[in-house]
Amino acid sequence: MGLEPGEYEFACIPCRGTGTVDRGDGTTLDCPDCDGTGIDTVDEDDAAEYVSLGFSPLRGPV
Ligand SMILES: [Zn+2]
Repeated sequence: MGLEPGEYEFACIPCRGTGTVDRGDGTTLDCPDCDGTGIDTVDEDDAAEYVSLGFSPLRGPV
């Protein structure tokens, strides 16, 4: 896919970048995927997969 090696940041998909997920009963809990940060940090291989799914990285390798 031609992405630069390194870490990419995406808005966390399960919580849509909010850091919390709805439990389905009107309450929320910290997203287990991102520990409530709303940011998912992945390497270039996972980043390429996210990009192929239509997501745009918030930040790439500097
Ligand atoms: Zn999350």
